[in-house]
Amino acid sequence: MTTVLVTGGAGYIGSHTCKLLARTGRLPVAFDDLSNGHADAVRWGPLEVGNIEDSRRLREVIAAWRPEAVIHFAGLIEVGRSVEDPAAFYRTNVTGSLALLEEMGAAGVRRIVFSSSASVYGVPPASPVSEDAPLDPVSPYGETKRAVEAMLDAFARAHGARHAALRYFNAAGADPEGELGERHDPETHLVPRALRAALGLESHIAIFGTDYPTPDGTAIRDYVHVSDLAAAHLAALDYLVAGGDPVTVNIGAGRGHSVRQVLDAVRRITGRPFAERPAPRRTGDPPELVAATGRAARLLGWTPRLSDLDSIVETAWAWHARHDAPEA
Ligand code: UDP
Repeated sequence: MTTVLVTGGAGYIGSHTCKLLARTGRLPVAFDDLSNGHADAVRWGPLEVGNIEDSRRLREVIAAWRPEAVIHFAGLIEVGRSVEDPAAFYRTNVTGSLALLEEMGAAGVRRIVFSSSASVYGVPPASPVSEDAPLDPVSPYGETKRAVEAMLDAFARAHGARHAALRYFNAAGADPEGELGERHDPETHLVPRALRAALGLESHIAIFGTDYPTPDGTAIRDYVHVSDLAAAHLAALDYLVAGGDPVTVNIGAGRGHSVRQVLDAVRRITGRPFAERPAPRRTGDPPELVAATGRAARLLGWTPRLSDLDSIVETAWAWHARHDAPEA
């Protein structure tokens, strides 16, 4: 059995990916400091508790498990917090990734799948946005993702290491078998927040911006199901194991939905009404962010299967109704 080291394996996308790795005959070793991840989400392989900035700990874990590849999810993700505390983001996302790459290099582990983000595009000049669009992040979070992409390119040129950088659009939904779901604290994402409002845990949902130049005035995003994202990581891993060259690809559904369309889907699927209130735009939120997905299909053979809005909301609802609902 081959072993894959999954940093951030106790997190939202990481845990879904570990489940799929195990399903396809690999041993996922989750490396997570549990600052945001959950130990009980690590169920398909061992958990090694550690922080990616801790080179000694990384060295120990890599030596113990000798992984054939690393899938690197660990990092800070809240865009707003990155504006307030950029140092934390540079430390964890950039210094941490550097430590990981150095330890991988020292141990001869030469394949890495990296969690990048559509935030590297900033406010894209065109939609759908292709991988060749200029990179112009508008938050320290996006800057850290761009910096790690550049670092991966430099390491590939200098040492022949191979990477796949996956630029995620909006991850959403939950494991269709109900074993895993989204658990962020604080929760900033649209779908889980709308579901909390549907459950009566919030008095209303704020719509950040109702004056965008879009058909209903609210921002358009490309929501991609977390199980499809997990499958994209496996496709990237297979691509690298087959000797593929370093690659950077968008991972999205290739279709956009406005905030209002998402809220309407949540009301329809849950059958529970909830209030919405217009609120100011969030700084740096582009009007529209939708992936051009041709490269992922062409190079990785990956296409989304569960990323229609109804499947996303239905699987997320099943999870949140069970895990967030107040005790009866
Ligand atoms: N959004 C909103 N209200 C919320 C949370 C998000 O209107 O309570 C909007 C946000 O401004 C963006 C979209 O929903 O246009 C998706 O936001 P999310 O935070 O889920 O992901 P992001 O696009 O920031 O990665």
